[in-house]
Amino acid sequence: MSLSHGQKSNHVAELDAVVIGAGFSGLYTLHRLREMGYKTRVIEAGNGVGGTWYWNRYPGARCDIESIYYNYTFSDEILNEWTWSSRYAPQPEILQYANFVADKLDLRRDIQFNTKVVSAHYNEDHNRWDIETDDGVKLSAKHLIAAVGCLSVSNVPNFKGIENFEGEWYHTGRWPHEEVSFKGKRVGVIGTGSSGIQAIPVIAEEAEHLTVFQRTPQYSIPARNEALDPEYVKQIRANYSEIRKKMRESAHGVPFGPRERSALDDPPEVRQKLFEEAWEKGGLFSLSYNYNDLGLNEEANKTAADFVRSKIREIVKDPETADKLMPTYYIGTKRQIIDTNYYETYNRDNVSLIDIKKAPIEEITAKGIRTADKEYELDAIVFATGFDAMTGPLFKIDLRGRGGVSLKEKWAGGANLRTYLGISTAGFPNFFMITGPESPSVLSNMMVSIEQHVEWITDCIDYLHKNNQASIEANPDAEATWSKHVRDVAEVTLAVKTDSWYMGANIEGKPRGFMAYLGGVGTYRQKCTEVQEKGYEGFTLLSTSNTAK
Ligand code: FAD
Ligand code: NAP
Repeated sequence: MSLSHGQKSNHVAELDAVVIGAGFSGLYTLHRLREMGYKTRVIEAGNGVGGTWYWNRYPGARCDIESIYYNYTFSDEILNEWTWSSRYAPQPEILQYANFVADKLDLRRDIQFNTKVVSAHYNEDHNRWDIETDDGVKLSAKHLIAAVGCLSVSNVPNFKGIENFEGEWYHTGRWPHEEVSFKGKRVGVIGTGSSGIQAIPVIAEEAEHLTVFQRTPQYSIPARNEALDPEYVKQIRANYSEIRKKMRESAHGVPFGPRERSALDDPPEVRQKLFEEAWEKGGLFSLSYNYNDLGLNEEANKTAADFVRSKIREIVKDPETADKLMPTYYIGTKRQIIDTNYYETYNRDNVSLIDIKKAPIEEITAKGIRTADKEYELDAIVFATGFDAMTGPLFKIDLRGRGGVSLKEKWAGGANLRTYLGISTAGFPNFFMITGPESPSVLSNMMVSIEQHVEWITDCIDYLHKNNQASIEANPDAEATWSKHVRDVAEVTLAVKTDSWYMGANIEGKPRGFMAYLGGVGTYRQKCTEVQEKGYEGFTLLSTSNTAK
C-alpha cells in the first residue's frame, strides 16, 4: 500500500534515503536501495509513477529515442517481458511501462504520491537531511537524492491578460487526465519545440481551425514511425547484452555513432545522397550521424541545414508559409526534433502560421491572442512553451547545505553553476542529483544516463555504509575543475552560439550558460568509474568516528 497525501503526524520518519520524484530515475533508485537493504522513501508530486510520461499527455506525445533503446536495461527479465508496439511508442504506452515496472518490483508501497518536497536542509549536527513536504510531514534522511527530472517544471510565459481568457488553456507538460476534445474549436498553439511539433499535426486533424504562433522556426526530420516487426524484436532481444554495452560506451546512449568523417570531405552529390537516405530512414540521428563535425564546423553544419531547408521548401506548398518556416540557427544546436507530418500540416486549409518574432504576442484577451498585428479569436490555447530546464526543479525546493547556504544562492540562480560530475556539489554532503546539470543527461538517451547515475550513486551509498563513513562531499577544487571542463568542451561547439533551453535562453531572466556535458556518455561513464575506483577521488569522506558529538 502506498502512503497517501495528508497522513500527518508529529513523528519524524528516520530513513536511510529520501528520493524526490517517481519518474524512471526515482523508481530505479528505490529498487536498488531497497535491494541493498536501505530504508528508502520516494516523495512524488503527481498521483502516479512515470514522471515525464505521467505529466505530458498532450496529443501526439511519444518518445524520440527508439523504444527498443528507451527502456531500462538493468533487468533481463523486464527486457524480455515487455514488448514495444512501435519504433517510437506513444505516451500512454510508456506510462503503462512505468506502471508495469513499478508493479513488478512492488515499488508503490514506498512511494508517497500527491506530495511535494518543499524544503531540505542539511543538519550539520547530525549529518542528516531534514526534509519537509507540502503537507507538513517531516522526514530525516542520511542521503537525499534528487530524481526531480530535467524537464519537470513547465514554463508558462508571463503573457499579459492570461487570466481574462474565456476559453480553456493547457500546457503540454501539465495536460489534463480527462480527454480534451478540440472538435469544432478554434485552437491556438504557442511554441514549436518538440512538444508543439508533435501536437500540431494531431490537433490540426481535429480542430475546426488551428493557428500556430511560432517564435523560432525549427529543423525537424521525419520520425518514420512504424509498427515493430516481431522478428526484429526477437533479434534485438537475442543481442541485448551487446547492444547495452554499445549504448553505454557511445556518445549519446544509442548503440551506434557518427561516421568518422567531415561533411566537407564528401563532394556535394555524395552528401546529398546520404542526406536523402537519412531523410527516408528518419529518426533522431539519421542525418547528424553521417558526419562527425556538423556540431563543430559552421560550413559543415550549413550542408545539413541547407538540406533540411530544401526539404521544407519541397513539402510546403505556399511559398510565404515556407519562408516563415525556414530555420536559421545551427542545425542540431537545439534538441533535434523528429515529427510525423509536421511541415505537411501547413498545407491544410484549416491551419495558419503566425510569425510572432515579426509581430509579437502583446496580450491574451478574453477572446483569444492579440499580436502586434491583430487579434486572433480562439476557443482554446495550448502552451507548448517548454520547461524551466535542469536547474528549475532544483530551485523550486528550498535546498540548503552547510551553513544554511541555499543551492540557488550557491549557483547564483544558475549564473555560477558548479557541480562535480553533475552528481554532487560542494557544501551539500550526501546530496546526489540524477542526470543533474553538467552531466550528459538531456543530450543522451536518458535511460542510459539515468541507469548509470542510479548505479553510481547507490554503489556510493553502499560503500559509505560498509566503510563506516558518515558523509561524502565534493571538494571545491574538483568541482571547479569539472565545471571548467564542461564549459571548455561546450565552447568548442556551435551549441553555445544558439539560444536554446540547454543555454537557459528560453526563460526570461535566466542566466545563460550551457547546462549539460557535451563530452559524450561513454567518456563520461569512464570518468565517473575512475573516480569511484580511486576511492571517490575529488570527494571528502567523513568517517563515523569523527562525527560523534
Ligand atoms: P521525470 O520523469 O521528469 O520525473 C521527475 C519527477 O519528480 C516528476 O514526476 C515530478 O513530479 C517529481 N518532482 C519534481 N520535483 C518534485 C518535488 N519537489 N517534490 C515531489 N516530486 C517532485 N528523453 C529521452 O531520452 N528520450 C525521449 O524520447 C524523451 N522524450 C521526452 C518527451 C517529453 C514530452 C519530455 C518532456 C521529455 C522527454 N525526454 C526524453 C526526457 C525525459 O524527461 C527523460 O527521458 C526521463 O523520463 C526523465 O526521468 P526522470 O525520472 O529523471 O525525471
Ligand atoms: P522547447 O523545446 O523549449 O520549445 C518551446 C517552444 O515555445 C519554442 O518554440 C519556443 O520558442 C516557444 N516559446 C517559449 N517561450 C515563448 C514565449 N514567451 N513566446 C513565444 N514562444 C515561446 O519545449 P518542448 O517543445 O516542450 O521540448 C522541450 C524538450 O523536451 C525537448 O527539447 C526534448 O528534449 C523533450 N521533448 C521530447 C519530445 C520527444 O520527441 N520525445 C517531445 C517533447 C519534448 P523559441 O524557440 O524561440 O524559444
